[in-house]
Amino acid sequence: MSTYARQDIVFARGDGAWLETETGERYLDFGSGVAVNALGHAHPHLVATLKDQAEKLWHTSNLYRVAGQEKLAGRLVETTFADKVFFCNSGAEACEGVIKAARRFHAVAGNPERNRIITCNGAFHGRTLATLAAAGNAKYLEGFGPEMPGFDHVPYNDLEAVRAAIGPETAAVMVEPVQGEGGVHVGSSDYLAGLRALCDEAGILLVFDEVQTGVGRSGRFFSYEWAGVTPDLMAVAKGIGGGFPLGAVLATERAAQGLTPGMHGSTFGGNPLATAVGNAVLDIVLAPGFFEAVQQKALRLRQSLARIQDQFPDLVAEIRGQGLLVGVKLTVAPPEVVSAALSEKLLLVGAGDNVVRVLPPLTVSDDDIAEGVERLARALSRVAKSKA
Ligand SMILES: *Cc1c(COP(=O)(O)O)cnc(C)c1O
Repeated sequence: MSTYARQDIVFARGDGAWLETETGERYLDFGSGVAVNALGHAHPHLVATLKDQAEKLWHTSNLYRVAGQEKLAGRLVETTFADKVFFCNSGAEACEGVIKAARRFHAVAGNPERNRIITCNGAFHGRTLATLAAAGNAKYLEGFGPEMPGFDHVPYNDLEAVRAAIGPETAAVMVEPVQGEGGVHVGSSDYLAGLRALCDEAGILLVFDEVQTGVGRSGRFFSYEWAGVTPDLMAVAKGIGGGFPLGAVLATERAAQGLTPGMHGSTFGGNPLATAVGNAVLDIVLAPGFFEAVQQKALRLRQSLARIQDQFPDLVAEIRGQGLLVGVKLTVAPPEVVSAALSEKLLLVGAGDNVVRVLPPLTVSDDDIAEGVERLARALSRVAKSKA
């Protein structure tokens, strides 16, 4: 279907931060398949793990125990706030899962009227009907019939707006610690901590969507660690599979209490192939020093981008972000810069609010950071010339 406005390029192979076309042209990938290829392309440990698992067992369904799934869940429980994990295949499904868990939590507690979720303007939670309603972006809802009810939208980073929106029907507050698609808006620590306090006061659940910020992208395992608060429920996907489709719903024991046997499910979710790769991703990112290295790379990238901002003050309004989720706020339309970067064989990803995202693999080398920033500078020169 013509659902995507695609670039006219076909990649044949990849290696680390680099992609190569059939005809041997090499592109520097600072988009990482929209924050998915956390460990770059063809990471040897992921390739070996996938090959090994492929020869043993692919899929059994969730009618039986799945060893790799239990192992991955156990590691997530050990390293995060969570006590319980449900596996699915994508970010939208993980967001559906947290929405269902939040509503059921109150229903089984005898408060079925608590089924509304407070969400933020500019949010992105996926493309299913419920997650579109959650984000409330009119452009994406248009023509798809009745909007699923149950969401109250408030401005992002505005604690008082959340306080005012909480009512007797509120089940949860659901936010991205950093809004990715919306234009790389970073939720302040005060905001996220304030949400925790508000939710506790009101007896409702705090839900983080860390589909984009999770698994090291923020410079910590999960972005909530920067704010020093933990959610009750969390949606995870993108980086956790390193390119293999995998998502997860993380929950405290208490927040998971509504999802009893039969209340939720997925045929493919957490199958042996997907969870083998998920475990391999964790082998790398949870190794000592990995997140510190991401923070170092992020600092280097931010410093280089600051120089670019100085060099092109008419084009670059702001550099913002967290870890290796970086937004360059432009004074021109993002597709202009994405196209110019493509001409310089650099891949970037657009976002809302006139931002292009710079999302290199978490394993990007210092040389590749320098090369990417150099290519971005050349791309901005092209744009500047076209305006002159
Ligand atoms: C990408 C994204 C989603 C949706 O993930 P899909 O795998 O495309 O369904 C949800 N939430 C956030 C924050 C995302 O960045």
